[in-house]
Order: sequence, then structure tokens, then C-alpha cells
Amino acid sequence: MSPDTFSYESLAARVLFGWDAIHRLPAEIDRIGAKRVLVLSTLQQAKDAERVMAIVSKTSVGLFSGAVMHTPVEVTAQALETVTRVRADALVSFGGGSTIGLGKAIAIRNGMHHIALPTTYAGSEATPILGETDKGVKTTRRDPRILPTLVIYDPELTLNLPRSISATSGLNAMAHAVEALYAQDRNPIISIIAEEGIKAFARALPRIARDLHDREARATALYGAWLCGTALGNVGMALHHKICHVLGGSFDLPHAETHAVMLPHVLAFNAGAAPQAVAALGRAFDSNQPLKAFREFCLSLGVPTSLSQLGMTEVGLDRAADLAVANPYWNPRNFNRADIRALLEGAWKGDWQVEATDRLEKDNE
Ligand code: NAD
Repeated sequence: MSPDTFSYESLAARVLFGWDAIHRLPAEIDRIGAKRVLVLSTLQQAKDAERVMAIVSKTSVGLFSGAVMHTPVEVTAQALETVTRVRADALVSFGGGSTIGLGKAIAIRNGMHHIALPTTYAGSEATPILGETDKGVKTTRRDPRILPTLVIYDPELTLNLPRSISATSGLNAMAHAVEALYAQDRNPIISIIAEEGIKAFARALPRIARDLHDREARATALYGAWLCGTALGNVGMALHHKICHVLGGSFDLPHAETHAVMLPHVLAFNAGAAPQAVAALGRAFDSNQPLKAFREFCLSLGVPTSLSQLGMTEVGLDRAADLAVANPYWNPRNFNRADIRALLEGAWKGDWQVEATDRLEKDNE
């Protein structure tokens, strides 16, 4: 990339990465001066969270295992009651974007220290962004104080991430990097980070699909998660994230799977208007047909390939198109409602192989 006009403001983040890095937690808790730590998790990960509690046993004051997707404000209120009851002065969120989202929602309300231990590749730990749901409406805000005090990436914590979530969560992360590459406010540092993040997942996900306990691939994927999350936290997202936001927020489609289905479609739609992103993808996949390579990559991982597979109804497509074009995010390619309706229909049917290629050819005419 040749340097063009850009502005860049780095986020203050402390990150520790490595096998067994979780054992650095007690020293880090000392470092920030915390004395009473509340661990956060989902119900599904409560058992594993007990291991974290054992590691911080000197300062542990309990576990709140009620984290759920989309950070409902009622759950945050319950967690805040627990914080007050056990007189916690720091949080350790152990889990994916849902649990880390809860940690952010508490910390932005009361200023507590928040240490994140990511166990998926969603990337929330690296962003100053918080999405919350109140009475079924999801709103997102950005504030530097939302960023966790510290992130500890220990690949050991991801070894049990099931095959399907590993793949979809990895594609969720890759979507951050793809959109960062064509962001309106992109800059050279974030473009390098995004390309390296895509490359990490391009290498790691096929190996994880074959062997969940491939330690080298797990470490590479978690490294990719940090990079892609950093890209998400630093530049604006475009059409892909807008559509996924609509499908998750208003149609309750599952977060990572929706990203996995939509990404090849939106990428093909935007490709003609984002040659620099396509070139970076080509380098990351070591291919001179990057879109084809990416589609084959998705297929090889066995992820869902259509919105209908995720439970989206055909009648919902019109409303989804309306919502996606209302207050649109900036996008490298201009679009109208009919474009988005057609894009959604292709994704709903899962016939992106034909549709995506056609679109690209049209763009290149
Ligand atoms: P998640 O946190 O909901 O986790 C999915 C499921 O996998 C949960 O049941 C969880 O308990 C389980 N799980 C997680 N790690 C596991 C492991 N290592 N082993 C076994 N099971 C494990 O899913 P997610 O995709 O990480 O996060 C989605 C949420 O995060 C959404 O609400 C999304 O909006 C939010 N998010 C926010 C940002 C941001 O920057 N604010 C970024 C990405 C995602």
C-alpha cells in the first residue's frame, strides 16, 4: 500500500499472549491493585471458569455465569447487583464476545478494571465498542473507556472450542479484517494488521478443522483474532457488518454463523470497488483468484452457506433489505435497495458461487 492521506490514533491496550499466559493473572491483578475479583462466564463455560477462579484463588470473590449473547441490559443489571453484593473491585471475563461484552457493559457503568480472557475469535476484547440490547433493540456505542484494562490471550483456552464455532468464529474475525481493508478511514498500519490477520486464519482454520488440538494452529488463530479484533477496533466497518447487525439484531440469527454466510457474498459485491482489499486477500491466500480461493476455503470448512439454513424466512428478506439501507454505513461500492435485496436473496439461497462471480464480472466490465 502506498501511504496516502490518513489519520491514526492508537488505542491504549495491554496484551499478554502465550501458552499458559493465564498463570500471569495473579501478578497482573496485583499490578492493577485489585483485591476482590469477580469472574464472568456463560452458563455453558461455568465449569471451565472455576479453573480461572482457582488460579486467582487469593483474590476470587465469586463467579457470575449469566452472560448471554447481545448483552441484554437486564443481565448487566443482575451482574451489577452481584458486583455490589460481593464487593468486587475487578472483573475477569472468561469467554467469547458475549461474556467480554458483559464485562465491558459493567466496566463502562462503574469504572472497574476489566481483564479479558478470550476463548473465541470474535475480537471484542480488542475494541472500544459495546453493543447492548434493551427491549429487543440493539444499540452500539464506542468509547475508549470500554476497552478492557488487559487482554490475556492463552491458546490453551481455545483448545475446547468446538469445530463448528472455531470455523464460524474465525470467519467472523476475517470479516473484520476484510472490511478494515476497504474502510473509508483505513490507514497503513491497520491494513498491514488486517492482511496478517486474514493470513493467520487462512493457514490455521483448515488445520483446526482437521485436528481441534493442533496447538500451533490454535495459537496462530488466536493471534489472528487479536489482529482482526484490532482492525475492528480502529477503523469503521461497512455493508457486511451493517447487514449482519440487522440479521442478528432484528431476526435473531446467530452472530458468527451469519458472518460466515454473508462474507463471501458481500466481498464479491464490493470487490470491484475495493481492488486493494482483493489484492491483500490474494497475498494472504497466496492465490491470483482470491475470491474463488476464499469461497473454496469457506466450503472446505463446512460452515453454513445460506441464510435459510440459519432459520431466516424468505418473507423476512424485504424487511431486512429495508433495514440494511436505512442509516447505511459507508461502503466502497454504492448501492440501492434492489442491490441489497438481490444480495440477501443470493445469501438466503446460498447460491453465491454463481451470483458472486456474475457480480464481480459485471463490476470489472
Ligand atoms: P459467544 O461468546 O456467544 O460464544 C458462543 C458459545 O460458545 C457460548 O455458548 C460460549 O459459552 C461457547 N464458548 C466460547 N468459547 C468456548 C470454548 N473455548 N470452548 C467451548 N465453548 C466455548 O460467541 P462470540 O461469537 O464469541 O460472541 C458473539 C457476541 O459478541 C455477539 O453478541 C456480538 O455482537 C459480540 N461481539 C462484539 C464485538 C465488539 O467489538 N463489541 C466484536 C465481536 C462480537
